[in-house]
Amino acid sequence: MPKKAIVIGGSIAGLLAARVLSDHFEEVILIEKDRYTDDGQVRNGTPQANHIHLLLVKGKEILQDFFPDLERELIENGANKIDFLNDGRFCLPSGWAQRFESGVITFTCTRTLLENTIRHQVQKISKIKILDNKPISSFVLEDANKISLKTIANEKIHADLIVDCTGRNTRTPDWLENIGYPKLTDTRVDSFVGYATRRYIPPKNVERKWKMLSILSNPTTNPRLGAIYPIEDGKWLVFLSGIGRVYPPTEEKGFLEFAKSLESEELYDAMKYAIPDSEIYGYRVQGSRRYHYESMSSWPENFIVLGDAVAVFNPFYGQGITSAALGVKVLDNMLRDQNFDKNFAKKFQKRLAKTISLPWILGTSEDLRWPTTVGKKPNVITKLVQNHAQKVLLLGPKSKLATKSFLQMMHMIRSPAIIFHPVILLQLIANPIWKKDE
Ligand SMILES: Cc1cc2nc3c(=O)[nH]c(=O)nc-3n(C[C@H](O)[C@H](O)[C@H](O)COP(=O)(O)OP(=O)(O)OC[C@H]3O[C@@H](n4cnc5c(N)ncnc54)[C@H](O)[C@@H]3O)c2cc1C
Repeated sequence: MPKKAIVIGGSIAGLLAARVLSDHFEEVILIEKDRYTDDGQVRNGTPQANHIHLLLVKGKEILQDFFPDLERELIENGANKIDFLNDGRFCLPSGWAQRFESGVITFTCTRTLLENTIRHQVQKISKIKILDNKPISSFVLEDANKISLKTIANEKIHADLIVDCTGRNTRTPDWLENIGYPKLTDTRVDSFVGYATRRYIPPKNVERKWKMLSILSNPTTNPRLGAIYPIEDGKWLVFLSGIGRVYPPTEEKGFLEFAKSLESEELYDAMKYAIPDSEIYGYRVQGSRRYHYESMSSWPENFIVLGDAVAVFNPFYGQGITSAALGVKVLDNMLRDQNFDKNFAKKFQKRLAKTISLPWILGTSEDLRWPTTVGKKPNVITKLVQNHAQKVLLLGPKSKLATKSFLQMMHMIRSPAIIFHPVILLQLIANPIWKKDE
C-alpha cells in the first residue's frame, strides 16, 4: 500500500477524494485554505454555496456508496427527499410537465449542509487528517518528475500522491508553468449566465401541490428562468437566472420584476407573500471551462487534478458535484485495478477526460443553442441529438415517458440513448406541434 496521499482543497471534490484515498493509502492529509465551521455560514472559498445546488441522482448514488450514513444525517438535519416529477412542478416552453412518481429521487438542502455533512463523515475516518486554515501557495519540482507543495508559511509538504481539488479558481495551471511544465490548453463555452438567489420563509397556511417549482427558459422568446427550491427548516431558496447577459437584479424591486417576467407567473405568485430571510446574492458565472490536463506532453508522476479544478460547467444543469463524484469513482476504480506506478497520474487524467465528456457535451451543446453563447459550435451529430433532446423535452406535457427519459439522461442515470426509445419516437411523430397547454 502506498504511504501518503495529500488532497488540496477541502470542498466536495476534495472530501470525496480523501474518502477514497483512505481505502488505498496508509495516511491521507486534506488541506483546506479556509477555516471550517459548523455555524451554517458560507465559506470564502465556496461563494457558490449561497445558490441552489441540485444533486443529480447519479451523484447522490455515488455519495451514498461512499458514505452509507449520509442520507440519514442529511434528513436528520433538515434535507428533503424529493421525487422530481411527483414533488416538483415544471413549466416547460410547451406547458406544464405531467406529475407522477418518476423514481427520479434526490435530496434538496443548502450546499453548506451537504458539504458539512460529507465532512462529518470524513472526520470519522481515522486515517484522514484534516488541516484547515492552511493555504497552499505554490508547487516545488522535486527529482524524478515529482512535485511537492509549499504553504504560505513556506513549509514544504511531500507525498506519494497529491490530488488537486482547488476548484474553479484553481491556480494550478500557473503553478505548473512556474516550475517548468508546458502551458495548459483549455476549451471554453460562455453563455453569459447570471444568478440571483434569496432565502425565503414560505407563507403559512397555504396549500401547495408541489415542493419544488421550476420555470424554464424558452429558447426562442424568453432567456429567463427561475426555481423555488426547498431547503432546511421548511425554507425556500428562490433562484432567478438569465442566459445571454440577461442578468437578474440583486435589488428588491428588480428581483421581483424579474420573477414576474418568467414564462409563468406562478413562481412570482408563490413568493410574493413569502418573507425574505437573507440578502439577495448575485453570481456571474464565468462560463463552462475545461482544462486539457490529459493532453500535457509532460506531467508530474505524483500529481492528479479533479473536480471543478479540471472542468466547470454551466451550473444550470447541476452537473458539478456529480462530475466530481464520477471523477473520484474513476480514481477509486484505478487504485483498485492498477499498479500505482509512474504512469498512474497520466493515465488517470486521460480516463477522467473521457468520463467528463458526457456532462460537458450535455451542458455546452444546450448552451450553444443560444445565439448569444460564445464557443466552438457542436458537430452535426451532437446538434442532431441536441435538437432531438429539445423535442423530447417539449413533449413533456403530453408524455410521461418523454419527461422521465429526459430527466434520467440529465441526471446521468441513463445514457442519452434512452431518449430514442421507439415509443418516444412514435409520440414525436404523433405530436409534431407542441402547443402550450394553459
Ligand atoms: C452559482 C453556482 C451554482 C452551482 N450549482 C450547482 C448545482 O446545482 N449542482 C451541482 O452539482 N453543482 C453546482 N455548482 C458547482 C459546484 O459548486 C461544484 O462543482 C462543487 O462545489 C465541487 O467543486 P470542487 O470541490 O471541485 O471545488 P470548489 O467547491 O470550488 O472548492 C475548492 C476548494 O479548494 C479550496 N482552495 C482553493 N485554493 C486553495 C489553496 N491554494 N489551498 C488550499 N485550499 C484551497 C477552496 O477554499 C475550496 O474549499 C454550482 C456552481 C456555481 C458557481
